[in-house]
Amino acid sequence: MEKKQQLYEGKAKKVYATSDPELVIVSYKDDATAFDGLKKGTIVGKGAVNNRMSNMMMKLLEKSGVPTHFVEELSDRETLVKKVSIVPLEVIIRNVSAGSFAKRYGVEEGIPFDEPTIEFSYKNDDLHDPLLNSYHALALHLATKEEIGTIKAYAFKVNEVLKAYFLSIGVKLIDFKLEFGRLKDGTIVLADEISPDTCRFWDAQTNEKLDKDRFRRDLGGVEDAYREIFQRVAGK
Ligand code: ADP
Ligand code: UDP
Repeated sequence: MEKKQQLYEGKAKKVYATSDPELVIVSYKDDATAFDGLKKGTIVGKGAVNNRMSNMMMKLLEKSGVPTHFVEELSDRETLVKKVSIVPLEVIIRNVSAGSFAKRYGVEEGIPFDEPTIEFSYKNDDLHDPLLNSYHALALHLATKEEIGTIKAYAFKVNEVLKAYFLSIGVKLIDFKLEFGRLKDGTIVLADEISPDTCRFWDAQTNEKLDKDRFRRDLGGVEDAYREIFQRVAGK
């Protein structure tokens, strides 16, 4: 499939049209941002890790009954996906307290929850992705009631599948962000990426962070962490 004009350049990926109006190519960059774009940097090799890891996760999820945008990996950095209209919600699932949850509610990081939590942010850069609940999402017409029901069910299913999978490679899945989109016929599918940029991964034995927190928090060993989590996923 041939890459045509660039449709969009985001912080971590570019999106290109193809000769098929229902398919686009995503191209993963090494650019990294954090704190609402205030912190910028490069993580060498990140684009390839995120692309390949995300594709492996999408394939696993398809097998487990979660429809995704994945079509075909084209190269280390590029993947053909079904074009969707993104539902402007960031869907966050948490198994263990960390990040903004720990800060907002004044608890330590690392407290496991009895049940996973779900939250939404409104995907809107101008408003800095404010937190909202499903009533707000309905009031703003971001999605229908039925779509929100489907998205919640898929998000918890993704959590069950990925939690078990990561535990099998010695990694605790702390939390993650998902994005969903609508195909032309309105079908909801999982889109965007599943990677160390969008998930928190802690080594099951040592709690060492194997994700973007190493970049956000200047912990060092950023490239090594991306390499390590990728090697575990790839079974190397
Ligand atoms: P951001 O827009 O937050 O800077 P990225 O750099 O990751 O994020 O850009 C990728 C963009 O492509 C995001 O806006 C994402 O919502 C969108 N996207 C992801 N998957 C698809 C898809 N299958 N079809 C169309 N757009 C997609
Ligand atoms: N996350 C993301 N994109 C965002 C915000 C969060 O991928 O714009 C992911 C983040 O990597 C983490 C989870 O969602 O795995 C929860 O993030 P949190 O709300 O704790 O925010 P943060 O601490 O990253 O500001």
